[in-house]
Amino acid sequence: MRAYSIAAIPADGIGPEVISAGCEVLKAIEKRAGDLTINVTHFDWGSDYYKKNGVMMPEDGLKQLQPFDAIYFGAVGAPDVPDHITLWGLRLPICQGFDQYANVRPTKILPGITPPLRNCKPGDLDWVIVRENSEGEYSGNGGRAHRGLPEEVGTEVAIFTRVGVTRIMRYAFQIAQSRPRKFLTVVTKSNAQRHGMVMWDEIAAEVAAEFPDVEWDKMLVDAMTVRMTLKPESLDTIVATNLHADILSDLAGALAGSLGVAPTANIDPQRRFPSMFEPIHGSAFDITGKGIANPIASFWTASMLLDHLGEKEAAARLMSAVERVTKAGVLTPDIGGTATTAEVTSSVIDAIYSSN
Ligand code: ATP
Ligand code: MG
Repeated sequence: MRAYSIAAIPADGIGPEVISAGCEVLKAIEKRAGDLTINVTHFDWGSDYYKKNGVMMPEDGLKQLQPFDAIYFGAVGAPDVPDHITLWGLRLPICQGFDQYANVRPTKILPGITPPLRNCKPGDLDWVIVRENSEGEYSGNGGRAHRGLPEEVGTEVAIFTRVGVTRIMRYAFQIAQSRPRKFLTVVTKSNAQRHGMVMWDEIAAEVAAEFPDVEWDKMLVDAMTVRMTLKPESLDTIVATNLHADILSDLAGALAGSLGVAPTANIDPQRRFPSMFEPIHGSAFDITGKGIANPIASFWTASMLLDHLGEKEAAARLMSAVERVTKAGVLTPDIGGTATTAEVTSSVIDAIYSSN
């Protein structure tokens, strides 16, 4: 019997709805496997916790999470709590404290979902975007001088370190190597930004030498948006900086059909700490409590979590169940259907039990 302990942090808005659906599906995976135990412990951290306690999570939060094999995260953000409190109070401290420097975002068009591009067939778009998750443009460096005066200057300094770039590049090459096409595209803006971005290009070439079986090319981020839109089939694994990959993965999600299906993983590839798995979408208060949140992103997220734990068969069984359900047209309103969260969830559970 293989046993895993998962920390669930559903947090805000539709987070609790999609994580609870995900936990039901994990239960079905556990029963279907027979030799697998998945113990989920729930943490009530988030905006409601903040309103009661003045903090998004307890001071020793990271210490409480450390013993778990993985973290299953919902969404943060509430209309009546400022974004910098919700984000900097819970999600980012976990990413940073556990050095989850690789953010991994698979994107593909699921069967039964109509993508916005007329000529894009499902197999054309099957990517993994690897986002640098610990430094770069979001390292918080910069400031403002002469605030409010005509001569005011604001700076936003991107910090790229050799250690940081090398480790994300190596991880991206490993992902590319593990996929059938063995093809990586390195994205920068080294024509206009002549320092850190040129270093990215140089380090990419150095790391590429360690992976002779992986083919790779380079793109400038502006041209990359065009290539993603017009030639999606020419791409496979993509690596980019924190900011660039943030933008490109939103585009990727839209091109694949919906935010409600996209998963992401914040990984510590060295496995010193638990990694964190979450849907890309936010708390979506406009649909909270209506029972129509799309749980597919949360299911795909759970599949990535299982894969990370080494449970490849369970991960594949979960994704195949999801794909059979989308193909059969059991879809929530955001992707053109009329099904509820509960209906999609029970269809996926049925598909899990009826799989070989
Ligand atoms: P954030 O501030 O973190 O971006 P948000 O509340 O703006 O969060 P988003 O995730 O950005 O929410 O989503 C934008 C809109 O897309 C939501 O308001 C909602 O209508 C829709 N949406 C997002 N996720 C889902 C989902 N899982 N199911 C259905 N609709 C969704
Ligand atoms: Mg939003």
